[in-house]
Amino acid sequence: MKVIIVGGVAGGATAAARIRRKSEEAEIILIEKGKYISYANCGLPYYIGDVIEDRDRLFVQTPEKFGNRFNIDVRIQSEVLSINREEKNIIIKGPNGEEYKEEYDKLLLSTGATPVKPPLPGINEEGIFTLRNVDDTDQIKAYTHQKKIESAVVIGAGFIGLEMAENLHLLGANVSIVEMDKQVMAPIDFSMASLVHQHLIEKEINLYLGETVTGFERDEKGLLVTLKSGKKIPADLVILSIGVRPLNDLAKNANLELGARGGIKVDQYLKTNDPHIYAIGDVIEFPHPLTGNPWMNYLAGPANRQGRIVADNILGDHISYEGSIGTSIAKVFDYTVAATGLPAKRLKAENIAYQSVTTHGFSNATYYPGATPLTIKLTFCPQTGQLYGGQIVGYTGVDKRIDQLALLVKKKGTIQDLIELEHAYAPPFSSAKDPIAIAAYTANNILIGDLKPAYWREIRDANKEDIVLLDVCTPEEFSVKSLPGAINVPLDGMRDNLDKIPKDKPVYLFCAVGLRGYLAYRVLAQHGFTNVKSLIGGTRILLAATTDTTPKNRATENESYHSKEIVSPQQSLPVTPEKVVKVDACGLQCPGPILTLKNAVEELNTGEFLEITSTDSAFPRDAESWCRSTGNTFISKNSSNGKFSLLIQKGGGAVKENATLPSTGKTFILFSDDLDKALATFILANGAAATGQKVTIFFTFWGLNVIKKSNPPKVNKDIFGKLFSMMLPKNSKHLGLSKMNMLGIGSRMMRKIMKHKGVDSLESLRRQALMNGVEFIACQMSMDVMGVAPEELMSEVTLGGVATYMERADQANGNLFI
Ligand code: FAD
Repeated sequence: MKVIIVGGVAGGATAAARIRRKSEEAEIILIEKGKYISYANCGLPYYIGDVIEDRDRLFVQTPEKFGNRFNIDVRIQSEVLSINREEKNIIIKGPNGEEYKEEYDKLLLSTGATPVKPPLPGINEEGIFTLRNVDDTDQIKAYTHQKKIESAVVIGAGFIGLEMAENLHLLGANVSIVEMDKQVMAPIDFSMASLVHQHLIEKEINLYLGETVTGFERDEKGLLVTLKSGKKIPADLVILSIGVRPLNDLAKNANLELGARGGIKVDQYLKTNDPHIYAIGDVIEFPHPLTGNPWMNYLAGPANRQGRIVADNILGDHISYEGSIGTSIAKVFDYTVAATGLPAKRLKAENIAYQSVTTHGFSNATYYPGATPLTIKLTFCPQTGQLYGGQIVGYTGVDKRIDQLALLVKKKGTIQDLIELEHAYAPPFSSAKDPIAIAAYTANNILIGDLKPAYWREIRDANKEDIVLLDVCTPEEFSVKSLPGAINVPLDGMRDNLDKIPKDKPVYLFCAVGLRGYLAYRVLAQHGFTNVKSLIGGTRILLAATTDTTPKNRATENESYHSKEIVSPQQSLPVTPEKVVKVDACGLQCPGPILTLKNAVEELNTGEFLEITSTDSAFPRDAESWCRSTGNTFISKNSSNGKFSLLIQKGGGAVKENATLPSTGKTFILFSDDLDKALATFILANGAAATGQKVTIFFTFWGLNVIKKSNPPKVNKDIFGKLFSMMLPKNSKHLGLSKMNMLGIGSRMMRKIMKHKGVDSLESLRRQALMNGVEFIACQMSMDVMGVAPEELMSEVTLGGVATYMERADQANGNLFI
């Protein structure tokens, strides 16, 4: 049997070698247009970035060695021009331009795909490249050596685009990525991609998302990439990586059937509609195993597997190919990003009902050094629990987990199957509850009704007046970061504060990663709260997904980009600190890192330095706001392989001016127990708290009457205490007006009018203030003088003295005495 294979790289070379292994008799001709066969095209970006230094390592085989070992007639620099199906021959153009005919018994097409190069104005300008093969690579590499590449633009943020962005960055270029979609990496959902956006921004990559390139211009300084928005990005080098299309011309001209997406249509034996012609790799279209719809995979794994199957089938076997679910992985700077199966956006596009969970875990036991965060998203069927897909973003341990998910997705396994998977565990490798087991448990909680999920878009789009955002984090975390308008009822102690949680509006519970939100959900669900949901993925996902990714460094546009200075977001320290206390907060879950920071800074003397490391990607931002709100100085941050290292100075020290922002809190001293003055205090306090400010009310002398319990316990008092109790209002319901009180008639009238006009009562405003996180401090000295016992005051009230008030006042920029 004479077999001709067109295309000598991933699919073609694999098929050729397999045919020989199965048959010594077959005559095999491998025809390749380029100079090389069986090379590592997946390694090309890393050779450009000098990560792979030795060019020869890209070549798995040379044509000569391959031909000799497998007794294959390898013809490089030979292009197949046409197929004559009736006569079963092909026309080949040889290395010297000569054309000749070759007959076949079986023909295999593994011609791959070619980069899309739209006919944009200026597309043929010098310095614009696509990357597909060794020749492209050599050209790009030579260009980076000849020219000084200070700035590079990568158009298209698929995995090749991102790999190129990283490698050009490694070469020292200031890199911009332009992507038409609102996100990078099409195989993953926006929420997961937004974590990658943050990472790219951290690496000082300029992201132009949702932007279309309209053409290329050249001015006296160099090349300019023009965008539909009107922006112009200067570039010394451009990589065009907006996608590929199947190289189907041979098949099309030979009237072989093509599919809806332009790939060659093949049956389960990888045979075209001509019984003597087979096709594999990037050029074919095959039904997706989960949807049954036509699907193209531009991946090396499937191409190699198909090469093996098709070899056997060409020799007479009937081995079925089951299709590929698109399992893929990429290194994006320090991140590893992987996906398998169907993301939520494809399920939505295909009208398939689905549910999803996103969980945050760690690559290995957090008490063992080197644990790095890992975010996992699962999509699954809400009825059967069938696992539709998985996506993972992390630093280490992503690969093994995505492969476990891929196995189950492909075998049509369920969330229950995922729960039942066994994981090899020892602290350096995983946790006793592996992160994918945690993701599966969370998905199962939804399936069995133990958790009502809320997703970030639902919260982003909700009318905030109609819902209650309930932050279940600690007060320390709440003071550093929360959602606008949120109230704080910490998980710890929630059971004692159920009365603070409204029942008349939908309540959205949230925390940083979703775990405490879920725990709080379980508490509330079992205490009769029915209108409650918990935010999936926590604020880590919500904040990433709603962060503006627009490049801040606008000097890069329209201006002298070629000579621009990179503005580092870090401050530089004017002096090298002599003594730096080092604290390791790696592997700690929130609120661990921020509490560790707080405790460590408390141990320092003013002016001393702390270096704290954490693996929580939100920690640098949280620490920065914590420093601002506590008067400490955030000096710098560095990140490497998932570890964030922050340098902080206690207090102001030498760099306080640069680092601290003006405080924006408010304090009130409520001295009076007049109803109207108390009303004004709470209205102002609630207004300030609603704008995210820290608010403290200091109740002193007569003001203590505003915060008395309505049913206080009996307390023993001395004679003066008893006298005060008799003469003073029992609680807030008995307060009088400062004017026109008329023995209480005025105050009753005031309450009636307020009710009629829909104005909240004093008690209601007071409750709102507490829910808004307003701090109530009762003056210890006034209590002593007036014989007020702590038990008589509302349980939320803390006691304090002048120093406490002064400290709050120092941190505020507005102080009122009422
Ligand atoms: P190819 O390997 O592209 O081979 C097709 C060959 O056919 C080409 O050499 C071409 O010259 C030849 N040819 C075409 N027409 C003719 C003709 N008329 N006559 C003669 N010869 C012809 N996939 C992954 O899974 N992981 C990765 O990390 C990854 N990284 C990649 C990085 C880069 C830069 C590139 C370009 C691709 C990457 N891929 C990756 C994709 C993967 O390389 C392809 O999916 C795979 O090579 C497809 O195999 P194939 O045999 O279909 O096509």
